[in-house]
Amino acid sequence: MLHLFCVPSDCDVTDFFYKKALQQKFEETVLVASSEALVEKARMQGIRAANFDALANAVTEQCSAQLHERLVVRKISRKAQELILQDILDRLQEEGRLPYFGRMSGKKGFIRSVVSLMEQIGSCGATAEEIETAFAHWDGRSPAYRQKDREIAEIYREYLLYLIQNNIYDMSGLYRVAAEELAALRKAGGAVTWKALYFMGFYRFDALQLVIIRLLSQICDVCIALPYEPGRPELYRAAEFTYGDLMQYATRERLPEVRVSVRTASLHHIVRNLRSPEMQPVPADQGIEIWQMSDENEEMRAVLREIKQQLRGKTLKPSEIAVVVRRMEEYSGIRELCDQYGIPVQAEDSAALVASPVFHFVTAILETVFLHGREKVERWIAFLTQPLQKIVLELPTEAVIQLAENNYYTEYRKFLTDVLEKTGCEGLRQLWQEIDAIPAEATIQDYCDIAGRLLSLTEMPAKAGRLYREGKITLAGFKNMVCASREILALLQKLPQDYRFCRSGRQTTNCAGFVEALADAAGKMSLSLQPENREGIAFLSAVNLEDASFKQVYVLGLRENEFPFYKDENWIYNDRERADLAVLGIPLPSSADGFGEDIHFFMNACAAATERLVLTFYTDEEHNASPYIAEILSLFTDLEVKEIKAETAAEDSLSREELELALARSGQTEVLKQLEPGLAESAGSDRKRLQKAAGWNGNPGGAMLLQQISRQIGDLFSASKLETYRSCPFKFLVTYVWQQKAAEAAGEDMDPMQRGSLLHRVLEIFIRRHLEEKLQQAQYAELQKELDEIFDTVCQEYADKGWLYPGDFWQHDKEQQRILLQRWLRSEIAYNEQGEWRPVSTEQVFGKKGKGEVALDINGRRIYLNGKIDRIDRAGDAYFITDYKSGDAPNKKEFADTDLQLPLYLLAAAMQTKGEVVGGGYYSLKDAERKESFIFPPAAGTVPWKTFSEAKDANGTATDIAAMEDLQATLWRVLGDMLEHIGEGDFSPTPSKDCERNCPAAEICRFRVLTRNREEEDPNG
Ligand code: SF4
Repeated sequence: MLHLFCVPSDCDVTDFFYKKALQQKFEETVLVASSEALVEKARMQGIRAANFDALANAVTEQCSAQLHERLVVRKISRKAQELILQDILDRLQEEGRLPYFGRMSGKKGFIRSVVSLMEQIGSCGATAEEIETAFAHWDGRSPAYRQKDREIAEIYREYLLYLIQNNIYDMSGLYRVAAEELAALRKAGGAVTWKALYFMGFYRFDALQLVIIRLLSQICDVCIALPYEPGRPELYRAAEFTYGDLMQYATRERLPEVRVSVRTASLHHIVRNLRSPEMQPVPADQGIEIWQMSDENEEMRAVLREIKQQLRGKTLKPSEIAVVVRRMEEYSGIRELCDQYGIPVQAEDSAALVASPVFHFVTAILETVFLHGREKVERWIAFLTQPLQKIVLELPTEAVIQLAENNYYTEYRKFLTDVLEKTGCEGLRQLWQEIDAIPAEATIQDYCDIAGRLLSLTEMPAKAGRLYREGKITLAGFKNMVCASREILALLQKLPQDYRFCRSGRQTTNCAGFVEALADAAGKMSLSLQPENREGIAFLSAVNLEDASFKQVYVLGLRENEFPFYKDENWIYNDRERADLAVLGIPLPSSADGFGEDIHFFMNACAAATERLVLTFYTDEEHNASPYIAEILSLFTDLEVKEIKAETAAEDSLSREELELALARSGQTEVLKQLEPGLAESAGSDRKRLQKAAGWNGNPGGAMLLQQISRQIGDLFSASKLETYRSCPFKFLVTYVWQQKAAEAAGEDMDPMQRGSLLHRVLEIFIRRHLEEKLQQAQYAELQKELDEIFDTVCQEYADKGWLYPGDFWQHDKEQQRILLQRWLRSEIAYNEQGEWRPVSTEQVFGKKGKGEVALDINGRRIYLNGKIDRIDRAGDAYFITDYKSGDAPNKKEFADTDLQLPLYLLAAAMQTKGEVVGGGYYSLKDAERKESFIFPPAAGTVPWKTFSEAKDANGTATDIAAMEDLQATLWRVLGDMLEHIGEGDFSPTPSKDCERNCPAAEICRFRVLTRNREEEDPNG
C-alpha cells in the first residue's frame, strides 16, 4: 500500500515520520532519506535508515537470495563508465558505424557528454528496444539527425550489452536490476523482510525509482513525504511529475499532528506566499533583511563580521546559524575566512589533490621517464628543484639551481652525476636507479605498482612527522603531505580497477599516457585537511537543505547566473528535442526542470530560517541581482535593500586580516611592519605596480626562468600572437606562457568567433566554386540562391556538430547573417564589374603541418610564421590578398604597428606566390565593403576601392611604403624590437580602454583597480 503525504512549505514531517518508524520493529522498517545528513539524523534516533542506493542494493540482495543464487552486483565508477564507452565508440568508429559522431569520438568532452546522456537515458528506465522504437517514431527529423539518433541508440544498446555480459552495473543499471528482481519476486509470491518503508527528504524520483517504489508498495507499506501543494504550481514544478505518477496508485493521506514550524511573521509570510497566486504584500518585520555589497569578498566579510559579533555577544550559538550558498565551489574561500575570524564551521577544510606538492612530486618522477636530451634534463631540473626535495631527499635545492644556471646540460646523466658530486645525496642515487628502471611502456596496473612503490620508498609521512615535531613545517603542511600520500596510494590501488573492464586496461601504454590517466583520475579528488566541527556554524549548499532548521540563515550569492543557477542540459539533445522525446515516452531532464529545482532550493533556504533570514548579493558589469530578490521584495510593502560595507577602522577589526587591511588603508605602515614583517610591502603592492617596481612589473628575472619562458614561447608565431605582445606584453605572457584563456560564458546566442567562422566557411565554399569567374548583376538571383543554400548547409553542419544551438536566438541571428551575406554578394558583384580582379584561392594555409614554411630571419634570430589567408585575387600577374572581418577592421593608422596581420600576410603571400603581391586589405562583412586596403604606390588605382600606401616610420610619422623591401624593413624594425624585449623578459602590462572585454590577465594586472585609483586621484577629474 502506498501512502502519500503532501507536505506544505511551512510544515515539517520529520518528527511524525520518526514516530511512525519507531512504532515498527527495527528490522522490519527502513527510513529512506535523500541525503547522508538525513540518514545520519534518523540513525541518531535509533531508526534504521538508508539512502535510495542502499535500498536498491538491499532489494536486489533480498530478491535474488530467494529467487536464485545470490546476485553479486558490482557497481562501476564513473571513470570506468567513461573507459567502457570510449572502447565502444572506438570500436564502432573503426567499423565505420559512427558517420555522425565519428570525428568527435576521441575527444574527452564528447565522451563525458555521452556518459551523462547514457545515465539520463538509463534513469528513464528505457530499454535499448524502447529507445529504438521512440527514435523510429520521431517525425520531422532531418537525415543527419536520424543518423545521430541511430548512433545514440546503437551506443546505448552496446553499452547495456557490455554491462550485462560482464555482470557490472552503473547506478541506473542497479535500479533496473532491483526493479526486475522485485517484479520477479512478486510474481513468485515472495516477500521482502520489511513491513514498512518511509521516504523523506525527496522532492522528486526518477522513472526507475518510481517503478521500485510502486513494486515495493505492492508487498509492504510505503509512506512518502513529498513537498507539494496543489495551489502553487509555480513553486512545486520540480515535484509535479512525481506527484502525478504517485497519485495514480497512492492514497493521499492527511497530515495529522504535524508540527507547523514556528517562524516570525515575515518568515511565515515568505514561506506561505512565495509564488502563491493569492499573495498580498504585508509590512516586513526584523525577520527578513536584504543586503547589497560591492563584491564577493565584502559579501562574505560582512556576513562573517555579523556572525562573529553575535557569537561574541553570545546572542546565538554557532549551531543555530547557517550560511547557505547555491554552489559551494563558488565560495571555496569561505572556510579560510571563517578561520580568520575564528568562527567554528561545520565544513571540512579541503584542498584539491592535483594541486598538492606530493601529487606534483609523483607526476614529476614519471615525466622524467619519457623524454630525451635537453627536455629530459629540464624535467630532472624541475623535479630536483621542487621545494619538497628538501624533505624527501634532503637535497639542497639551491645547489641544484646553481648547477643548472651555470651549465647548459643536454645529457641528464651528466647533470645527475654533477648533482650527486656537489650534494653527496645518497637518496638521489637510489631514486635515480629506480627511475631508470621504469619501463617506457607498461600496463596501467604495472605503472600503478611502480608509482606506489616509489611513493612508499620516499617515506614521506614519517619524514613529514619528524619535521613537524621539530617545528620545521606547519601542521597544515604536515597534514597536506600525509593526506596526499595516503590518497595517492589509494588512487593507485583503485585506478587499475577502473581500467579492468576496458581495452586500455589490458593493453600497454606509455608513461606519458599513464601520467595523463593519473591526473585525469585525480582531477576531482580533494584532501580533507581538517574534519568538520559539529558545534560550528553550518555552511551548506541550498541543494542539501531538506528539513533543515536554524534560528538564523544567511543566503549568499543571490545574483543572476549564481542563484538561480541553470545548467545547460547535455548538448547532444537540446531542449526542443528533449520535449519531443518526452512525448515519445523518453523523459530526459531539460533546462526547464532546472528552473523548477532551483526555486525549490531557494524555498528550502528561506524555510530553514525560523527567526531571521538575510539575503545577500553584489552586482557587477556582468550580473545583476537575482530575480528572487525582486520576488521577496514584492511580498512586502516596506522591505528595502540595505547597502552594507564591510570596511572597518583599525579599532573595530574583528580579525587579524581586517586589522592589517585597516592599517594598510590608513597608511599606518610602521604598525603594520611590527605586526608582520613583509606585510607593509604587500599592502603597498598596487602602488608598486603603478610605479612598475621590480617584482611588480610583470618582468620575470633569472636566466633560467627566461630560458624556460623562451622555450615555452617557441619560434612559431601567428599574427595574433605577435599582435598580442604588441598590444600588451603582460597579456602575451599570461596567454602564451601561462596558457590562460579568458573564460567565456556559455549561452544560447552564438559566440562571435563561431559566427565569424561560419561566415568564413560559407564564403570559402562559394568563392571556391567561382574561382577566376567574373560575377555579374544578371546572375544575382541565381547566385543569391546558391549562397543561401550554402549558408543553410553550413548552418546545419554547425548545428549537427553542436557548434551552435539552434534555439530562438539563433533563428533570429541566422536571418541577420543571411541578409549580411546577401549584401556582401551585391557588393562583390559590383567590385567584379568595376575591375579585373578575380579570386584565385581561398583559405590558403601557410606554415602549418609542413605547408609552406615562412621563415623570417630577424636580427640573427629565425622565427616561423603560420596563418591562413582568407582569399587571394589576381589581375594579370598581380595579386591582392583579402581578410574577411565580421567585426571592425583595424584602422590604417595601425598598419605594421598594432595591426601586424595584414603586412605579415602580404609578406607570406609574396614568399609563396610566383607573381607580384601588390597589396591587401580587409573586407568588412557587416558593412559589405572593402576597407583599409594597403597597396604599393605603383599599383594604386588598379583596384576599384579605396587604398592607402603608408606606415609609421621609426619616429612615428606616416611614410610611403614604396615596395615590398620597404615593408619588410618596417616589419623587421617592429618585430626585431619585440623579439628583443621578449628575450629580455619585458612583459609589463600596457592598459588601454579595450582591456576588460577579453583579457585573461585582467584580474592579475589589476588595471581596473589601478586606473580607477588614478582617475579618482586625478584633480582634473
Ligand atoms: S587587462 Fe589590459 S593591461 Fe591588463 S594584461 Fe590585459 S591587456 Fe594588459
